[in-house]
Amino acid sequence: MVATGLTRRIDKLGRVMIPIAIRSEYGIGEKDAVEIFTRDNFIVIKKYALPDGEIKSRYCTDNAGRIVLPISIRKEFSLADGVDYIEIFTEQDSILLRKYERECVICGNAEGLVTVKSKKICADCLQLIKAIKE
Ligand SMILES: [Zn+2]
Repeated sequence: MVATGLTRRIDKLGRVMIPIAIRSEYGIGEKDAVEIFTRDNFIVIKKYALPDGEIKSRYCTDNAGRIVLPISIRKEFSLADGVDYIEIFTEQDSILLRKYERECVICGNAEGLVTVKSKKICADCLQLIKAIKE
């Protein structure tokens, strides 16, 4: 898995804009069908390979290449429309999205963050956690 270093905000309609450079790398154009599913902390987006038949993907890019993230997935990942950001990663045949935490999940501090199981925690809170005796 490769981190692209790119982040995008989820818009007010729950859509996410995947940069065209990444979409074209995966052959995903405008109004193309995609598969969307989750794996661990990631939302996985794959080009939907049409199996000849009538089966159509429920998800398509729009004419600006945006993808609506299903509400069930936005809920599962606590993604707030128009507020939260996702971080973009790539893998052999899929684009992976992960919620991008811009501040400490405990106190909201944006400085000196470390990542613990994909959550951002600041150094102060990390010290507090370490000091907790069971
Ligand atoms: Zn903190």
